Amino acid sequence: MKRYSGWAVFREGLRGQTGWSRAWRDPEPKSEYDIVIVGGGGHGLATAYYLAKNHGLKNIAVVEKGWLGGGNVGRNTTIVRSNYALPHSTEFYEHSVKLWENLAHDLNYNVMFSQRGQLGLFHTPAARDAQAKRANTMVMNGIEAELLDTEGVKNLIPHLDYSENARFPILGAVLQRRAGTARHDAVAWGFARGADERGVDILQNCEVQGFLREEGRVTGVETSRGVIRAKKVGVAVAGSTGHVMAMAGIERLPIETHKLQAFVSEPLKPLLDYVVSYGAPGAHFYISQSDKGGMVFGGDLDFYNSYAQRGNLPIVQDVAESAMAIMPCLGRVKLLRHWAGVMDMSMDGTHIMSKTPIDNLYLNAGWCYGGFKATPASGYHFADLIANDRPDALTAPFSLDRFEKGYAIDEKGMGPTPKLH
Ligand SMILES: Cc1cc2nc3c(=O)[nH]c(=O)nc-3n(C[C@H](O)[C@H](O)[C@H](O)COP(=O)(O)OP(=O)(O)OC[C@H]3O[C@@H](n4cnc5c(N)ncnc54)[C@H](O)[C@@H]3O)c2cc1C
Repeated sequence: MKRYSGWAVFREGLRGQTGWSRAWRDPEPKSEYDIVIVGGGGHGLATAYYLAKNHGLKNIAVVEKGWLGGGNVGRNTTIVRSNYALPHSTEFYEHSVKLWENLAHDLNYNVMFSQRGQLGLFHTPAARDAQAKRANTMVMNGIEAELLDTEGVKNLIPHLDYSENARFPILGAVLQRRAGTARHDAVAWGFARGADERGVDILQNCEVQGFLREEGRVTGVETSRGVIRAKKVGVAVAGSTGHVMAMAGIERLPIETHKLQAFVSEPLKPLLDYVVSYGAPGAHFYISQSDKGGMVFGGDLDFYNSYAQRGNLPIVQDVAESAMAIMPCLGRVKLLRHWAGVMDMSMDGTHIMSKTPIDNLYLNAGWCYGGFKATPASGYHFADLIANDRPDALTAPFSLDRFEKGYAIDEKGMGPTPKLH
């Protein structure tokens, strides 16, 4: 496959763009693979890529019911950070940020990872204490963090609402400078191209409709393009986890499917250099500006279960109010598009990466609305789990049986209420 480079762009400019090859093939499904990954989102594609790259495995298929990038990987607000407070999550997400930092080189694909910094605002003294604790935990784990006061935030972003009677007075923020954003669909395409280059078959329009089982183990999948046998099957289908795992015979999982909306405005001149987020009683909001100038933002879940990839109007109003409460200058900006994705909300707000009670069937799920930032590390460690049939040290805490054993990893301390995580 032709490598992408500045020189290649220049040469193709002179040759009328005639020398580019397809980014990935469109093969017919084979009757059998060593490993089938169900779900061609970011996590499924990254898993296939690292299975090939790190473990030298080639006879792999990714089966995707729609098109690459049609799920959450192409619908999210692209925030990447590692400002977690609990052990296990801290290490996992920091490993992910480190992979992000070299991802464009690794994939030879510009994923547009922009480490512009993220500020988590706080509005009460109690919230300041909580954020200071989080910043200390990060620093103790070798992750840089800065605690800013009101002036510190104002110096970086002068046009938030700092007035005395603001609905959410800004007392300060925790800043992670290495956090940022990436171009979501480029991440899917980059992993797809990298996996394809290493021999992985990417099968689009190929829906898994059932599982083959023999003597307590999975031996393949039934798809809309025929039966595919496999020695191992990994499931990474995000919001469809409950539905797909039920077909495999696992009827009950600690996951609920919810919807989350995202919004993008008309393009503006440079307005916001950072990612900004805040959460307060009655409001949850995060915003950044895309390289094309659109303000990209979102808020809370829609608060009811659904598989529909569209949202409801009350949340549109909620998000607009949250935006105006912190950034009144957005008042006259026109909304260009909004959409929703289906989220696999887990009972403790933390992901599951695990073997399952069925042999040769592996599960990657429960990313809630924070799984984009995890994409490289998720693929890296899920590949390791599938290849070696045992979790590595960073994966072991996220096993499915933690809910039976009472080892919940509840970052927000909300208990088993998925829509609050
Ligand atoms: C609006 C919104 C904003 C978000 N913002 C952020 C953010 O700022 N930062 C962050 O870190 N995370 C964010 N997320 C979360 C993040 O997008 C997800 O956690 C992550 O993308 C999920 O993993 P994925 O990419 O593999 O999922 P997906 O892209 O959804 O991949 C799953 C794939 O499985 C396929 N599939 C389902 N059923 C079947 C079947 N039967 N057979 C074959 N294929 C099947 C689907 O078609 C889909 O393509 C956001 C999500 C949304 C919706």
